[in-house]
Amino acid sequence: MKVTTSEPREVLKSVFGYDQFRDKQEAIIQNTISGKDSLVIMPTGGGKSFCYQIPALCMAGFTLVISPLIALMNDQVIALQNSGVNAQALNSQLSPDQKKELLHELESGKIKLLYVSPEVAVQQNFINYLATLPVNLIAVDEAHCVSVWGNDFRPEYAQLDRLISKLSNVPHMALTATADSATQKDIAERLGLKNPQHYLSSFERGNISSSVLPGQGRMKEILNFLSAHPNEAGIIYTLSRKSAEQVALKLQQEGYNADFYHGRMTAEARNSVQNDFKNDDVQIVCATIAFGMGIDKSNIRWVIHYNLPKNLEGYYQEIGRSGRDGSPAETLLFFSYGDVTILRSFIEDSDADPTFKAVQRAKLDRILEYCQATSCRTNVVLSYFGEHREKQCGRCDICRNPPKKIDGTLLSQKVLSGIKRLKEAVPITTLVNVMRGAQNQEVLENNYHQIKTYGALKDVAYFDLFQYITQLINQGFLEIDYTSHNHLKVTSIGKTVLFEGKTVELTIPVDKKDQDLDKKKKQDKKVEFEDSLFEALRSYRKKLAKAQGVPAYAVFTDKSLQEIAAEKPMTMGAFSAISGVGDAKLKKYGRLFIDYLQDQVIKTGKDVNVKGKTFVETLQLYNQGKSIEEIAKARNLNKSTIFSHITSLIENGEPLSHEGLVNSDIKDLVVNTWKELKETGELKPIFDALKEKVSYDLIKLSLAIHRSSL
Ligand code: ADP
Ligand code: ZN
Repeated sequence: MKVTTSEPREVLKSVFGYDQFRDKQEAIIQNTISGKDSLVIMPTGGGKSFCYQIPALCMAGFTLVISPLIALMNDQVIALQNSGVNAQALNSQLSPDQKKELLHELESGKIKLLYVSPEVAVQQNFINYLATLPVNLIAVDEAHCVSVWGNDFRPEYAQLDRLISKLSNVPHMALTATADSATQKDIAERLGLKNPQHYLSSFERGNISSSVLPGQGRMKEILNFLSAHPNEAGIIYTLSRKSAEQVALKLQQEGYNADFYHGRMTAEARNSVQNDFKNDDVQIVCATIAFGMGIDKSNIRWVIHYNLPKNLEGYYQEIGRSGRDGSPAETLLFFSYGDVTILRSFIEDSDADPTFKAVQRAKLDRILEYCQATSCRTNVVLSYFGEHREKQCGRCDICRNPPKKIDGTLLSQKVLSGIKRLKEAVPITTLVNVMRGAQNQEVLENNYHQIKTYGALKDVAYFDLFQYITQLINQGFLEIDYTSHNHLKVTSIGKTVLFEGKTVELTIPVDKKDQDLDKKKKQDKKVEFEDSLFEALRSYRKKLAKAQGVPAYAVFTDKSLQEIAAEKPMTMGAFSAISGVGDAKLKKYGRLFIDYLQDQVIKTGKDVNVKGKTFVETLQLYNQGKSIEEIAKARNLNKSTIFSHITSLIENGEPLSHEGLVNSDIKDLVVNTWKELKETGELKPIFDALKEKVSYDLIKLSLAIHRSSL
């Protein structure tokens, strides 16, 4: 049994500023403190870090954390240090002198969490050295890297069992966001965990909403989307380096602060984009999938997939990078058959063995199913990860806008007949143009305007027709011949629609713009003020972060700022109740933010009814040197009210000078009388004991000054 020095719940509140553990966190922490091994499986953003950071702080000694990416390691160390925890990273970036100093600090017992790269962790002399120190836990982050099943296998991870067996008397914890059971088993075996308790959290991320839209006109949709998300940080994932650059350029032309990121850039250029994004200097990054792995940025508010991802794991991991602070995040995926063709050809053209290819094909099919889902999309993903349930998420586009069905038999017959007349030799765009009676070069050159069904669907909008044809493909009436220029072919069940009267049900395409308008419903003054306050707080946070050389989200998360904007805590006491405000951050930032907030509320919140605002107005006049009488006059309130404001401010820890408000002899007299009366909670006994010579106002004030001095 380890010596515990603090309670987990207490650490959660005092160090990190949160009141409640999530899901399995507490059980994992308890299991560790009782000396046992754990295998922790939680989605990205689920809250894995606290599972080892909190035991580290509750037990004597220090925790060793093995983490594969130096950038990620540094982010975590900075965040911990900013919360007042002595965490350090030992990796190849340190100079010999820095390393010596770090080890010295470690030996003197000052460090509570030591992050090391796997390369360092497997060196035999380092292992021997650790064995002489009070290690209280070994945590292996991204533990799937030990498994050859995954895509991220790292040879050093395979040697970590040496470290674990040498330090076999301490608890071990392996953490990953990879859900499949083969990998889980592999992790436990290869690391040599002893009867690890498995903790499998739900993969649902309740703050992320998702939508799928057809790929046609995606740039327009993106601009639409962005105008509904002003100044919010987000990532646009693209399939190719070229489109990453093009999309970024287009957004720049539209006035957005956007940049791109991909594998062809120098490491230096990539780092610089990553840092700018982390520090809120760049709002949007257009990137290939490599982006985002190495950063811990918690305030990514949205993710867009410009192209279809190649499987659901990758997709879910990428959208999971948004909303890690728990505030709402929105994601959008563009689906097109063009992308399917490209992804299929990647698989077919690769040198991989046939089994591997078959698996990749099956995975691509599953993401197609996701895009074509007609019921809750979240459930499609969850069932992919082995979580089956009936409850709907309520956040995906399907849940929000359940598809409306119509009888599409006649329309389908026209489409199918059109394809036949075009000799099954055109792709979807051409078909749409012909059916709608377009007069473009392709149509005229090929005499498509001569066929019988030319213009037969001219009343259907381009976009909608595209959608209907896509649905016919999804329902199996049509197929795309990927081997022959993506030409559309009528399948055998398609023929039953044409010749045997089989009926077809179609779904009316939703108009995304209507949805957006719904969202921008009229906001009242209060919400408007809170939004502008939030923006102001964000830029203030950025300024502070810059001055201190830390990323903005390491000061406070977006969620904390939102709470500050909503609650408007005007005193240190109220500020400490904001989630994410622990002791160290309260001390470091509390006063600064309160002063800033007070200014903002007085300056811009004139017409808004803000709780505590009247106190602040009194305070500001008081701090200008005005007397109680003068303030009462200026504010058109009575003296006793102003007096009670001042008393209440003092009670809430506002550091105002109270000299001259009450004579110190009187104050002492009141306090002593109160003590003689066994610290009564009532004022009347004190008033009576003092023979009605000291007013209630002064009694209250004296006691407030006394309490605040404790
Ligand atoms: P993961 O490593 O699983 O991707 P993190 O450990 O980085 O996730 O946690 C994601 C975010 O959730 C962080 O901002 C963290 O502060 C926050 N978080 C974790 N646990 C809690 C909790 N119990 N209450 C509030 N916020 C939490
Ligand atoms: Zn849903």
